[in-house]
Amino acid sequence: MHTPLANIGEFGFIDRIKKQATRKNSSTIKGIGDDAAVLGYEPNEKVLVSTDMLVEKIHFDLSYMPLKHLGYKAVAVNVSDIAAMNGIPQQITVSLAISNRFSVEALDELYAGIFAACEAYQVDLVGGDTTSSAAGLVISITVIGKAALDKIVYRHMAQPTDILCVTGDLGGAYLGLTLLEREKREFLENPDMQPDIDRFASLIRRQLKPEARLDIIHELAELGIIPTAMIDISDGLASEVLHLCKESGLGAVLFEDKLPIDKETYNVAIEEFKISPTTCALNGGEDYELLFTIKQADFEKIKNHEDISTIGYMQKDTAINLVSRNNQVLPLTAQGWKHF
Ligand code: ADP
Ligand code: MG
Repeated sequence: MHTPLANIGEFGFIDRIKKQATRKNSSTIKGIGDDAAVLGYEPNEKVLVSTDMLVEKIHFDLSYMPLKHLGYKAVAVNVSDIAAMNGIPQQITVSLAISNRFSVEALDELYAGIFAACEAYQVDLVGGDTTSSAAGLVISITVIGKAALDKIVYRHMAQPTDILCVTGDLGGAYLGLTLLEREKREFLENPDMQPDIDRFASLIRRQLKPEARLDIIHELAELGIIPTAMIDISDGLASEVLHLCKESGLGAVLFEDKLPIDKETYNVAIEEFKISPTTCALNGGEDYELLFTIKQADFEKIKNHEDISTIGYMQKDTAINLVSRNNQVLPLTAQGWKHF
């Protein structure tokens, strides 16, 4: 089916969305349907706001990104920014610029992904804007979250000797993208070929359906841990470590053998692309894991956590170094570990 958007019109389209936007959070007083949404936060809650814009051909490629995944990812990356402040997301607004090649069915797919993420992260879709675009698709999402003032975690508060921690594993999303781009290239050269991506499903999933680590934010609260500093890993671990260090006025030491790299990431990096798994972990983007620092005194509480790795420590000396497996000390740079 390819129903032109003009058939139902902008108001018809907004009506469809409004029907599906159910309220989950008491901070949502009025959602879609008036000139503005109305939100109400408790006196002890601070309000966090963050926006991300995704532009077709720049941030995503619809030839391998299904619209449903795009909708989910666009919400997840916003939720990740609230998680990185140690906050809980509450509402989103979604603004779209769409060209006339998008049908009602295509937009339904996009919103199916958006609503799936709203469910997964318990956020309310409370508004947005819809406009036309001459060419590509643009999605801008604003997320609103909450946190008590004394629980908010900034990038600049890390202290010397704090332990650097990272959630999940790294480098998978980058390899997922590299695999998808390889398949696309091969398909363009030979349209009869069958895509060979099933055996890489888990890495491709890391690229197409990343998850914000809101689960870790809840777990840290249960463990009684407030990180001293935190950032989400969108541009690669190395770049985010440099941000934390710069903002905190400190340096850091990381250990190569502590970097969390999944077995499949490791194998695909070496066997399919002949690149270093460490480089993927340090410089591959879009993992949306969390990088944070904790006081030494909190180490006991997380040392057995399956999904948190301790990868190094902060230091007063502003040098930022990586200690390799064979004990070489190499300066960490955002472009990658030149040595490889
Ligand atoms: P206005 O002309 O006042 O900007 P609109 O007709 O654009 O109002 O929007 C009507 C309602 O629908 C508002 O509540 C708005 O937030 C919501 N809305 C518009 N576009 C979207 C969208 N793409 N996704 C979610 N809500 C939307
Ligand atoms: Mg409007």
